[in-house]
Amino acid sequence: MGEHTVIVKAYSDTHYLQAIKNLSHRLSLTNPKRQELEFEYNRIKAGDTGEKFIVEKLAQLKLPYDFYLFHNLFLNIESKMQIDILFLTKYYAIIFEIKNIKGKIEFIKNPDQLMRTLPNGDIDGFDSPELQLKEYVYELKNFFLNKGMNIPVYGAIVFPFSSSFIMRPPTETKVLRKNGIKGFIRDMETKKIFLNNNQIEFLIKHFLRNHLEYNPYPLINRYNISKESIVKGVMCPKCGVYGMQRSAYNWYCKNCHHKSKNAHENAIKDYLTIINESVTNKECREFLNVQDIDQMNKMLRKMDLKKVGKFRYTKYMLN
Ligand SMILES: [Zn+2]
Repeated sequence: MGEHTVIVKAYSDTHYLQAIKNLSHRLSLTNPKRQELEFEYNRIKAGDTGEKFIVEKLAQLKLPYDFYLFHNLFLNIESKMQIDILFLTKYYAIIFEIKNIKGKIEFIKNPDQLMRTLPNGDIDGFDSPELQLKEYVYELKNFFLNKGMNIPVYGAIVFPFSSSFIMRPPTETKVLRKNGIKGFIRDMETKKIFLNNNQIEFLIKHFLRNHLEYNPYPLINRYNISKESIVKGVMCPKCGVYGMQRSAYNWYCKNCHHKSKNAHENAIKDYLTIINESVTNKECREFLNVQDIDQMNKMLRKMDLKKVGKFRYTKYMLN
């Protein structure tokens, strides 16, 4: 029986999801971006569930040969490619593109697009995953050829949710429901070995070394939100109201009279994920409403942050 390895996970989805929630909390109730962020939150959460489900399904697979699973591989070959799942064996490679789209799905040609109809009749258009997948297959195939490896590369679009109904599939690309994946892989041609152990080892190292770390922060740039619309202050961990006040040793909430020693930590993390990837003492005091420079210094130093620069040019970043 073969072994398998799940190797790459681009970034922590849980942190990212939490950061989106925190950003949404720091926008006024009437800000239309709040709704947009809520959709985004649900979209990522669904995507995460769908992809995880497929990765787990693949990881359980029993095959008479070794296979390697890369989840969320972000490479720059000819262009930047974010591969949902790469399935690598000595006989073939498959790129799986996961589509977390529910409803009735139709692949339309000329121009290529994907049309989705919801039960209530709403129709949405999406970019065709077929074009992107073909491009990825082409680039990866070329990459292998340039390294002297003539291994076949396949692509398949996977719909992990049972609430996706494929009314009209694409003509040239394999489309799979979650139950079709195992069979699809077992039917793969395994007559000829294209990669020896050294080549596989080389590829694993190469992919990991060249995997681009995906950094979604700061979120205001990513979601095109102005810095001015972000509510400042330290949030009370008990009642959720912003604007706790700092005394010598504690944060105090005027709303519910709660006291906290370290409520500033979440606010500083919010700053570093939402507003900017670095913060100075001055910026931090403005954001947290702290007057005392030394007190602010102590709070920043106690946290597990990366320190860059010296004296008043010191900047703090997330590790
Ligand atoms: Zn409170």
